[in-house]
Amino acid sequence: MVSRNNVRLVLNVLQQYRKASRIEISKYSGLSPATVTNVIQELENLGLVREAGKTELPMGRKPILIELNPDIQYLVGLDVGIGKIIGVVINLHSDIIKSIREEFDVNSDDFDLVHEMEKVYLKLIEGLPQEIINKIPGVGVSVPGLVHLEKGVLVFAPNLPNCNNVPLADKLSQLIGKPVYIENEARAMALAEARYGAARGYKNVFCIRLGYGIGGGIIINGELYRGSSYTAGEVGHMTILPSGPLCHCGNRGCLEVFAGGGAIASTALRVLSSGSNSLIREIAEDDSSSITARVVSEAAKRGDEIALKIVKDFANYIGIGIASVVNILNPEVIIVGGGVANTGELLFREIKNNVKKRAFTTMMRFPEILPSMLGEQASSIGVAAYVFEEIIRNHPEYFKVSKK
Ligand SMILES: [Zn+2]
Repeated sequence: MVSRNNVRLVLNVLQQYRKASRIEISKYSGLSPATVTNVIQELENLGLVREAGKTELPMGRKPILIELNPDIQYLVGLDVGIGKIIGVVINLHSDIIKSIREEFDVNSDDFDLVHEMEKVYLKLIEGLPQEIINKIPGVGVSVPGLVHLEKGVLVFAPNLPNCNNVPLADKLSQLIGKPVYIENEARAMALAEARYGAARGYKNVFCIRLGYGIGGGIIINGELYRGSSYTAGEVGHMTILPSGPLCHCGNRGCLEVFAGGGAIASTALRVLSSGSNSLIREIAEDDSSSITARVVSEAAKRGDEIALKIVKDFANYIGIGIASVVNILNPEVIIVGGGVANTGELLFREIKNNVKKRAFTTMMRFPEILPSMLGEQASSIGVAAYVFEEIIRNHPEYFKVSKK
């Protein structure tokens, strides 16, 4: 019987590199070649991995490549945002089989998050071959808030009305007849980027998700770090100014109230109310309710002075947040994702300048700051990957059952 931890290490390598020889797996995982051989044997018995040709070396013995058997199971991830849910079905290579994006109104009187998730799940599997649906071992849900992982409870969701202390996993599971696993959206994104995206090949990673709110995910030594009660990474609620504006979390002056998507939109509204001329107004078609962080970043990309100033101030705050994280964690790489990160090179230049100015580690080795590779689907892919990890950890027999 090989240890679960060694299985995890081998799977991490196969998720990151897709195909690897036993020697490469040993090198990247730090496990001895003999251990790797044993783990691969067990995974082959489960039907979870298979041989995938030989290494293309010009001469000598060509090692056999191993890969995950992509279609032995399918993974589903639902990423709940403020007013939208993004759903994906992926195979074990993280190829997207199907993805959808559905909107909902958080302010409507009959808003019921569990019901919205059920609708999206049903729409997601609609039309998929029954063979694929049967091979979905569970559903992952990422949420913008604090979660209790084992209990599957959304504990605190400051930006979603009436969603505190909701037993999301149990409720959704009863409706769809599959086990449900929940995780925080920023941690899910970090996991996705580490396994399949921009943070592949790095062991220590910090991922910041810039959306309506601001979240963070920490990867230490290749694994998600969740903290002692699942609140690690909440960079959006670090205090920037003790007497600052009130945050949804109840505190004052959090990073999120200066640099969250909501804050960017309201800053733009305030500046424009003085009658200034700006592309922001044009892109929003003169409708102030259409001014969002996305509109501001679009205007900035097109060189609008007011939008550029807002983005610059916003990047300054993000830089302060990231620099503090760099001082504590000393990561190799910072991944910046979420809708607001789409502002592109301009935003990254400003963030880098600010982090360089403030982070103490500058004199040692400066971490790379890279954009997310998986974009809008990062959290849904990540929470699907989390389902895979949970099932390997607790129910590896699921794979045996589905082996033909
Ligand atoms: Zn806060």
